Amino acid sequence: MTIAIVGAGLGGLALARVLHVNGIDAVVYERETSRFARGQGGMLDIHSGQRALREAGLIDQFHAIARGEGQDMRLLEPDGTLLLQEDTPDDAPLARPEVDRADLRDLLLDSLPEGVVRWGHAFESADNGLLRFADGSTATYDLLVGADGANSRVRALLTDARPAHIGQNVVELGIPDIDRTHPDLAAMVGRGNYWVLGNGLSLAAQRNGDGRVRIGLSFYNTAEDWFATSGIPFDDPAAARARLIDLLPGWDARITALIAACDDTVLPRSISALPVGLTWPSRPDVTLLGDAAHLMPPVGEGANMALLDGALLGLALAAHPDDFPAAVEEYEREMFERTSAAARMSADVQEILMSPDASRRMLAFFQPS
Ligand SMILES: Cc1cc2nc3c(=O)[nH]c(=O)nc-3n(C[C@H](O)[C@H](O)[C@H](O)COP(=O)(O)OP(=O)(O)OC[C@H]3O[C@@H](n4cnc5c(N)ncnc54)[C@H](O)[C@@H]3O)c2cc1C
Repeated sequence: MTIAIVGAGLGGLALARVLHVNGIDAVVYERETSRFARGQGGMLDIHSGQRALREAGLIDQFHAIARGEGQDMRLLEPDGTLLLQEDTPDDAPLARPEVDRADLRDLLLDSLPEGVVRWGHAFESADNGLLRFADGSTATYDLLVGADGANSRVRALLTDARPAHIGQNVVELGIPDIDRTHPDLAAMVGRGNYWVLGNGLSLAAQRNGDGRVRIGLSFYNTAEDWFATSGIPFDDPAAARARLIDLLPGWDARITALIAACDDTVLPRSISALPVGLTWPSRPDVTLLGDAAHLMPPVGEGANMALLDGALLGLALAAHPDDFPAAVEEYEREMFERTSAAARMSADVQEILMSPDASRRMLAFFQPS
């Protein structure tokens, strides 16, 4: 029986690894040409997903690359008022450590035998046990797992649902080597997350393992085509930074100094999500995991759910090696319930972030009375 996994992201790799640990072969088809083809973004906050790494036999290696101090948090208002500061003690348990996404993906990739991941295979379609790739090549499968992320092509085999814009547009920027280039700003941001929540706006700065501070500036309650009308000249980074600072009237100068200190990487990112509680009638030969199945607002659940999906599907297949359809049904039943709850919680947090008194409500969220 041939298991074909489309997508070498966190979920697809967790599945391949748990299958491997249980003596089951699988092939992962990945569109990118190598692990270095694309930057993997910043830090991930891994909590429930740690179970997947345990099932994958990789929890010790994970702890070695996880950053406990990345759990530190500072929450501010735009005028610079500090609402909350949480510093992680050195001996605190690694409940929600931050990990560099590239390090986590490398850990999973390195845990698989040579040749399991077939790079440069962009999935186009599947029919009657045959996969077709963009370069014209084909491959067979008995079970096809779509682990191909937010804009999944495999998804259409199971549901007509598509991600819809959630009224959030993010501009991503960063300050390289902040300790050397801007020690004052480094001290202000601290070791982990630095969050400023305003009315319809937020700034999230986060220190990465390589000393870069990544900054996401979110504009809430904005339309899908907002970037086209925002007046941000993405082709002129210095002018884009100036325009972004203009879009933060009344913000404390120490906070806008973070934007002025950024380098020339200025990326627009429009945020979409799938409907909360999406399900589909089970099919014996195709299923989905991760963002392909349940793309959520980016508030810290997506990678955890993708890892868990991969591990739990792997365990279900290992428990029913002669009955993949039964394994798929068992996996989907648990996955739908677990990820619906995570998607509902993510939508609730998103609603707080988009509300006029986001900072006070978020403070109450972190410090319930
Ligand atoms: C800015 C940001 C911050 C985030 N922070 C967190 C966080 O702190 N904690 C958290 O839990 N989650 C976080 N998330 C969400 C998390 O990144 C995703 O939910 C997670 O990566 C989903 O994993 P995946 O394996 O489903 O998909 P992906 O990681 O997106 O992997 C999909 C893979 O499929 C490949 N692919 C796509 N199409 C094809 C095709 N046609 N053929 C072959 N291969 C294909 C892609 O190249 C990719 O390698 C964040 C997301 C964003 C945008």
